[in-house]
Parts: sequence; structure tokens; C-alpha cells
Amino acid sequence: MNLHTYCKSCKKDIKIKSNASTRPDLQMEKGDEFNVNCQNCGKTEKKHVNDIKAEPNNLVILIGVGIGIIATFFLWIYFGAIGSISLIIPFLFWQQQASEIKSFNSYMIRRK
Ligand SMILES: [Zn+2]
Repeated sequence: MNLHTYCKSCKKDIKIKSNASTRPDLQMEKGDEFNVNCQNCGKTEKKHVNDIKAEPNNLVILIGVGIGIIATFFLWIYFGAIGSISLIIPFLFWQQQASEIKSFNSYMIRRK
């Protein structure tokens, strides 16, 4: 998943560079508030960790689809039609990411 927030001046999305997968992780990494720099208008502003939203990373879904297609192809050769069960792989990628995003967005840090 990707983390992003928006710029107050120009309303554009700002991507947050972080590997944090939960809001407390992000808080540990960046602190309660941190500066973000808008790529569009160049403004720097302070964002609270609660202002950050998670969204799906399409690249991860695409990798899941790729793995699913390759796995299906090979399993189909050896096992026939039952190999198509591996088409479930992209769905699992998507589901795993959806639950991560949901828990990230629903968990808020208590503001001091
Ligand atoms: Zn901006």
C-alpha cells in the first residue's frame, strides 16, 4: 500500500515515503507531526500522523496478477484445469492489502 496526504495550498496528493504498515509504525518512524514537501507547489507543511491515508499500491496487485498467471500456466501443464485454482493468488494479494489499508485508516493516534 501507499501512504499519502494532501497539500493544503493546491489540494494535490503528496506521497509519503515510508515502509510503515500501520499508523503507530508511522508515528514511531516520523513522530506525531512531521514536515511534508509538496511536489506540485513546493510548499512545506506540517502534517499530523492522523492526516495520512493509506491507499492500494497497484504495483503490488499487478505483481500478484503476474504470479497468478505464471503459476496457473505451469500448474495447468502438470495438473490440468485444477491449476486454475492459482488464479486466486491476485485475489489474496488484493485482500491482504485491503485489510492492511482498512486497519491503517481506521486506527487513529490519540492527539495530545
Ligand atoms: Zn501543493
